[in-house]
Amino acid sequence: MADHDHDHEHDDEHEHDELSDEEAQAEAERLVRKEIALSQIRQYGDPVLRMRAEEVEEVDDELRAVGERMIQLMHDAEGVGLAATQVGILRRFFVCTLEGEDRLFFNPVVTPIGADTDDDTEGCLSLGTVRVPVERAAKVRIEALDVDGAPLALELEGYGARVVQHEVDHLDGKLMLDRTDAEARREALGLLRPRLVLS
Ligand code: ZN
Repeated sequence: MADHDHDHEHDDEHEHDELSDEEAQAEAERLVRKEIALSQIRQYGDPVLRMRAEEVEEVDDELRAVGERMIQLMHDAEGVGLAATQVGILRRFFVCTLEGEDRLFFNPVVTPIGADTDDDTEGCLSLGTVRVPVERAAKVRIEALDVDGAPLALELEGYGARVVQHEVDHLDGKLMLDRTDAEARREALGLLRPRLVLS
């Protein structure tokens, strides 16, 4: 900070300035990490996002390692869920954060419990800044294989239920755009349309 103006009469302010600089630095690094992470996640228009992923035959070390990298990518991108298809892997698994805990689900099957639904806004790491309302089952049961390949079953409500439904949709090549209303879809597509570049 050689070119930083230094006023000796305001040492406490100077300290405050330094703190702000650190905060600004941390913020800049966070944004760079996020940008790099997003550049590694397939974005709308990529045909792989429309493909159905195949069942995982065996949860092995290689898949576990991929899952760990996806968890890191999800955090860097500041998302709460990431499906294998979103990183170009056509296998049925996803990662997510449920109540602060990172989870890996292989061969997930999500079944609604009861007929109650929730209408709420969703975002997606493959859809930029788009946010659309999506109606989802309010309560679900998820059956899957855990990180060790052991069967697990979990009942989820509200936000957690929404996240796993969104991720399983990805494994079927479905996007939240397919589940929103016509007006929200039109608006979203307007945001997603590649800009025409005139030379
Ligand atoms: Zn998504």
